[in-house]
Amino acid sequence: MNQPFKIYNSLSRQKELFEPLSPPYVGMYVCGPTVYNYVHLGNVRTFLTFDTLFRYLTHIGYKVRYVRNITDVGHLVGDGDEGEDKIGKMAKLEKLEPMEIVQRYTNDFHNVLLQFNMRPPSIEPTATGHLIEQIEATKSLIDKGLAYESNGSVYFDINKYNEEGHNYGKLSGRVLDELLTETRNLEGTSEKRNPLDFAIWKKAAPEHIMQWESPWGMGFPGWHLECTCMSTKYLGKQFDIHGGGMDLKFPHHECEIAQGTGLNGADPVRYWMHSNMLTVNGQKMSKSLGNSFLPAELFTGSHPLLEQAYSPMTTRFFMLQSHYRSTLDFSNDALKGAQKAYKRLMNGLKAIKEMSYIPAETSNIPADSALKVSTPGVQIDDKKVADIERSVQAFYEAMNDDLNTAVAVAQLFNLLKYINMLFLNQLTPAALGETGFGLLKEKFVLFTEEILGLKEERSDSDAVVLGMLNLYREYKAAQQYDKVDQVRAYFKAQGLVIRDMKHRIDWAYEE
Ligand code: AMP
Ligand code: ZN
Repeated sequence: MNQPFKIYNSLSRQKELFEPLSPPYVGMYVCGPTVYNYVHLGNVRTFLTFDTLFRYLTHIGYKVRYVRNITDVGHLVGDGDEGEDKIGKMAKLEKLEPMEIVQRYTNDFHNVLLQFNMRPPSIEPTATGHLIEQIEATKSLIDKGLAYESNGSVYFDINKYNEEGHNYGKLSGRVLDELLTETRNLEGTSEKRNPLDFAIWKKAAPEHIMQWESPWGMGFPGWHLECTCMSTKYLGKQFDIHGGGMDLKFPHHECEIAQGTGLNGADPVRYWMHSNMLTVNGQKMSKSLGNSFLPAELFTGSHPLLEQAYSPMTTRFFMLQSHYRSTLDFSNDALKGAQKAYKRLMNGLKAIKEMSYIPAETSNIPADSALKVSTPGVQIDDKKVADIERSVQAFYEAMNDDLNTAVAVAQLFNLLKYINMLFLNQLTPAALGETGFGLLKEKFVLFTEEILGLKEERSDSDAVVLGMLNLYREYKAAQQYDKVDQVRAYFKAQGLVIRDMKHRIDWAYEE
């Protein structure tokens, strides 16, 4: 790999050079959603971070196996060891089978991610599909003396784990004594040797819908154990990257480290990556706080917090404008700014895709053909070419610096400046030379579409839009100005404009 890619490792709390265990292969596991409800925009941010990482790692030459699970059992209301299963609760409320709930919200999750142009993972395992592995892992932890059965449930023994020289709390920086004070009053700790011990298998009450036979009676797996079993099964006992939202660091990922280390004697993950929260007025967006909104509400603008509708790509761009480790606060102003910038980017994308390099001698520009602009006898503008090269390099440097999309996006806008000059005929392709022009075109398209995953959004097909543009030309030539206005109105209704310039007539996104 010619790119020195650095990742901020939440475990070491520093940026580290990314060195996969068996290059060019990379194993990456990301905690997927608990499918008991519609995904909200906060969830989308986390999955977007790892979609961008997946895209970038693939681009720089790695063969990534991206595993993202579906949690369809075992995640309890309140995220602890006591209480109702989130999916079971919803099934009762809606009078449906738990698997109907799971299917409905898994479908929604997939649709939403597609709308945001996210790539599907390589493997998407479900927790209920891996019960045998979870029962085996529980047995193994008991055999190793790191877990014990108590009243039909099985708990991980944190004291025993620490006595063996490990450090439960090392990822989140939690200190056991402090945790004990926080946990003292929690219910359901009486079965545990230590209130901090966590469930890896839970006894099911008769009314609990989802339950399976096990050596410890009827029960269901613990949420933390699911991820350990699914990641190990598909990526091995030790793998390269584990991701999720910052809120999963404790207890979820802390427990995964303890289980993986307990089972296999080694830290399961080399690089832990945590995406920061999407906030609303500084507060984490979450279903339970009632400040979340759904992608569908965003796309239609139908939420009291929204001043207008925002498209999926505007939102994707909005999220990419900040680094994944910073919090990102939702704001209408920021989204409106993102909408404008995204449209400028799409105008640039459309323009550069239509441009081709032509040597200096050609200067005949047919008004209605694809953009071909050039002026005879132009010298290559070395300064501009050098700036384009520098920007391309800086884009890679930013992405290599712990996926700094905020800086990368700024570099993309520097490249856009040259595309706009070409479009306005203030610069000719010949003045950039074939190499300079080729670099600008290739990298701008690659960065925008492949790496950042941004694409054009339009309801009408190219054929319809181009047909309308031809009508505009005809009406204008025939001086039928009322019809010209009608065509303009059509474009406006689509969020587009006609750009009637001296050297060419074309359409563009209204910025
Ligand atoms: P859940 O379905 O609640 O397990 O969440 C799925 C993913 O979304 C997890 O990786 C969470 O960390 C992440 N997540 C939840 N809320 C937010 C938020 N407000 N901002 C960013 N990520 C979030
Ligand atoms: Zn997980």
